[in-house]
Amino acid sequence: MATSQASWLANANVVDVEEGRLLVDRNVEIVDGAIRAISSTLPPGQSGVIDVGGRFVLPGLISCHTHLSIVFPMSATDPTENPAATVLRAAKRARDALGAGITTLRCVHEQHRADLWLRDAQRRGWADVPRIFGAGQAITTPKGHGAGAAWAEAEGEEEFYRAAIEELEAGADHVKVAINGGLAREGEDISGSEMTDEELNGTVRAAREHGTYVVAHSGASTAIRQALARGVRCFEHAYELDPGTASLLAGQGAYITPTLVVTRCEQWMRANGFAEASIATARRVADGHLESIRHAIAAGVPLLCGTDLPPADDVGGLPATVVEMTLLEGAGLSRLGALQTATTNPARLMGVEGEIGQARPGFRADLVVVDDNPLDDLAALGSVRLVLQGGRPVKQAL
Ligand SMILES: [Zn+2]
Repeated sequence: MATSQASWLANANVVDVEEGRLLVDRNVEIVDGAIRAISSTLPPGQSGVIDVGGRFVLPGLISCHTHLSIVFPMSATDPTENPAATVLRAAKRARDALGAGITTLRCVHEQHRADLWLRDAQRRGWADVPRIFGAGQAITTPKGHGAGAAWAEAEGEEEFYRAAIEELEAGADHVKVAINGGLAREGEDISGSEMTDEELNGTVRAAREHGTYVVAHSGASTAIRQALARGVRCFEHAYELDPGTASLLAGQGAYITPTLVVTRCEQWMRANGFAEASIATARRVADGHLESIRHAIAAGVPLLCGTDLPPADDVGGLPATVVEMTLLEGAGLSRLGALQTATTNPARLMGVEGEIGQARPGFRADLVVVDDNPLDDLAALGSVRLVLQGGRPVKQAL
């Protein structure tokens, strides 16, 4: 068998996002799309060397709450849209994300399962987009959050079970449901439970049969406790979380994706046609949302970086994903802890902690290069010079 040619990132400061250490003046050897070694010396006569000039190398980011195909405002969603148009819109957001150094996306509802089509296109080499872990279509009750926005609808245990199985058989990596209402549309209630115990049971049973987990759009503690008790593993937003529920989540190893940015992006909402009432709702719950996430941090719940809005959209001068990390730092996580919400934490939840989320030998060479040390300031992640996906440069601006 022919030996694959190695390529190198030379003259690099490598960020160890597990330990929070900097490996100074190293050379990263890449073979077959993976990191083979990180060494102090570069053997002479190598070809395929990219000199990064003392810049900082870290693992590509993982953004965990994405809707690539979403239409703004959501009320403009056309469920009968041609699926090709849906996938092309999603592809644009996905390419933007990759250019911003987001090499993996977790999607949590896409019209026409655009995430699953894009994921497969990426694997076949048809599209330069991040690696995708997709839910396909999310599932909601007929009057629930997401009804009318091209979500799958179900009622009762068997219908939820079957709807989840349908997504999983279409290739979904996890199952997404809504246990509370949301902020973006008028008249939704972020506190009242939308699913019954039986409906949660049916959904979790389907996910377990396929060796995966259920992720829930969530608002308040009552519904979160109910869903946790039924086996839901990951909770999105958690606008109104009390300390007791936070402790329960931590004790059972559940995750939260805070999406703090969604209650802190007024200008972005206005520019994207959101109703003033939705903007006012976001403003009204913003303080409580932050308080909830502080409870989660105090209890030690592992957090994931996710944005809801397209992950590379500009929010006040930085990509939304980077803004979210800075907000999590502001909420009380250490800077390293905030970095881990977009690297090691999601890799662990998704069962790929030995493959992505770190710049270490044996890991895939999904890497980004930035000018400054993100361990000093997360805003350094806002301008990415080089992005490698599986060792291949997909953006180069050195
Ligand atoms: Zn969402």
